[in-house]
Amino acid sequence: MTKRITAKEAKNAAFETLQRLFAIHPDAHCELEHKSPFELLVATVLSAQTTDVAVNKATPALFAKYPTAEALAKATPLEVEPLISTIGMYRQKSKNIVKLADLLIKRHKGQVPKSLDKLVELPGVGRKTANVVLGVAFGAPEGVVVDTHVMRISQRLGWTKEAEATTIELALCKLLPREVWDRTSHTLIFHGRRICGAVKPQCDRCGVSDVCPSAGRAVEVGRKPGRTR
Ligand code: SF4
Repeated sequence: MTKRITAKEAKNAAFETLQRLFAIHPDAHCELEHKSPFELLVATVLSAQTTDVAVNKATPALFAKYPTAEALAKATPLEVEPLISTIGMYRQKSKNIVKLADLLIKRHKGQVPKSLDKLVELPGVGRKTANVVLGVAFGAPEGVVVDTHVMRISQRLGWTKEAEATTIELALCKLLPREVWDRTSHTLIFHGRRICGAVKPQCDRCGVSDVCPSAGRAVEVGRKPGRTR
């Protein structure tokens, strides 16, 4: 019987394992549809506690009516609500995106700022949302985006023993070079959706099972209820 890799060995091999995951999921990308940094920022705010699929169904009509920060800042939350009413917490999100557009005009000349500090001052924008925008729109993330998939899989792969999103992010930033931070999130999310699911991980068809300390017993490791984005 082949000896199982230890968590320490798995952590040391993390970058190599990641390269293999890149090869397994070469198409990994942000699935929120957008045509500009502004659209990506709004779509990411809307994606809190819901799926990208649900957001992608609502945003074409939203962006057709309000394609820029200028246009959205002139709307009222009540006017926006019907366009996003299929998304969870749409009333609060309507308020957030109208206020966000207003602040983009007042503070940033209608443009999406390129710094995490400035982004997190906007309503509905936390560190994770800010890093999605910085990574996807500008190729300059200031951290690793840790959602429920990234959390679970980095734990299962033995890359971290941390249990909270913020401490997992710090651990991943320390472990992996900055150039791959953005791609790491998208790749682990794709791996989580396709192979390493929370409830039914398919270790028998996983391309990195030989370097995963949780292979064959994954449901016991890193299982997190709910979504963090
Ligand atoms: S071997 Fe199993 S637990 Fe490990 S990454 Fe693959 S699917 Fe997930």
